[in-house]
Amino acid sequence: MSNHQHDDDIIRCSFCGRTAHEVTSMVAGPDVYICDRCINDASGIVSSDFTAAPNRKPTIAAGSRSTGSKRRLSPLEMKAALDEYVVGQDQAKKALSVAVYNHYKRIDSSEYFSDFQDVELEKSNILLIGPTGTGKTLLAKTLARILDVPFCISDATALTEAGYVGEDVESILANLLHASDFNVERAERGIIYIDEVDKVARKSDNASITRDVSGEGVQQALLKILEGTVAGVPPKGGRKHPEQSLINIDTSNILFICGGAFDGLNEVIASRISSNSIGFNANSAAKMDKFDPKIFQHVEPDDLLRFGLIPELIGRLPVISALDSLNEEAMRSILLEPKNALLKQYQKLFSMDGMDLTFDEGAVSAIVKRAKALGTGARGLRAVLEDTMLEIMFNVHSKSNIGRCIVTRETVESKAEPLFEQKKASA
Ligand code: ADP
Repeated sequence: MSNHQHDDDIIRCSFCGRTAHEVTSMVAGPDVYICDRCINDASGIVSSDFTAAPNRKPTIAAGSRSTGSKRRLSPLEMKAALDEYVVGQDQAKKALSVAVYNHYKRIDSSEYFSDFQDVELEKSNILLIGPTGTGKTLLAKTLARILDVPFCISDATALTEAGYVGEDVESILANLLHASDFNVERAERGIIYIDEVDKVARKSDNASITRDVSGEGVQQALLKILEGTVAGVPPKGGRKHPEQSLINIDTSNILFICGGAFDGLNEVIASRISSNSIGFNANSAAKMDKFDPKIFQHVEPDDLLRFGLIPELIGRLPVISALDSLNEEAMRSILLEPKNALLKQYQKLFSMDGMDLTFDEGAVSAIVKRAKALGTGARGLRAVLEDTMLEIMFNVHSKSNIGRCIVTRETVESKAEPLFEQKKASA
């Protein structure tokens, strides 16, 4: 502004900065102006959004009700953001990115694209299948962080069907309401991760039509909120009490991500694949080893049915994605690479006390090896590190003038004392 003389007298377009002399006409609003060229451009953008190819990223109009531009990340950008925190699991990341992108597009379509009401986009809740500690919860949590939407985790095993002791399904929504600071509008666009859905599968081993009430009741209750309903939620959580006033939450735009280890599903998949190959190929390579690390990639809805999920619930989880079990290389990356990798966290703790912490090559391999043996995926890494670091963190302050602590293979394997280096005398 300062480089223009008599700026006060010059009317400029608030979008492109052209002066009134440079354009044909100028529309004035309270303290703002827009020139005919920008109006033209803007109307072009808006109409091309309506006719754009389905995967076109909608343009963000200033002042729209959107809660933030973060949500408009393309699937590619979303995956890149996930890559910063989650190691590997590319297939699941892709599936999640696309499903989430479409999910928010669906919400926007009902709000802004009223001309397209005839084609109703269905909700795409997601089922993540994979061994424990492979990043299912982490993926869901990271997504919510990237998208800046409220997020909560619930455990399907804590739920019971209405009327029994345990938590009502509505309590899940109460958690989300808490996570959004009781902002109902924000909660209604949030993400809920339901862990251990495999544990509410029907218990009976045979896949006959006889239904097992225990798990099925919870599945039925979940169905309702997954497909979209207006639920009366007790704001304080817990069970509904007659004296508590309920808050209505519409779940149709909430994205549900369900996760589970589905122990035993590998056998179901393997037996389906091998029974399909009966005949000329009977003993051929078409057979699938139930311990194949990629076996969950072959899951089909039918396998879930056999496993004990009810068909209606499977129908509400149209996006199914499998996570790989973590090999040593992946575990190693998890230890070292993500933005908040475990080793970085310990190093930060030490640096806050003015000390360097390093893990030598042998220590890293030993941690991975011990963690792998625990069979709890990356969760084992934390357990091993806690175990290794406890003594060190307890004792380190009794030593004076420590500048560096070097954790070695022996420290991890047999709790040998780490190496210490004195602080260099500063000039
Ligand atoms: P689950 O698959 O059982 O839900 P989590 O997502 O809770 O497992 O993972 C447990 C912990 O292990 C997380 O806190 C995270 O630190 C780590 N972790 C698991 N998988 C990965 C991964 N693929 N990348 C980075 N960290 C991971």
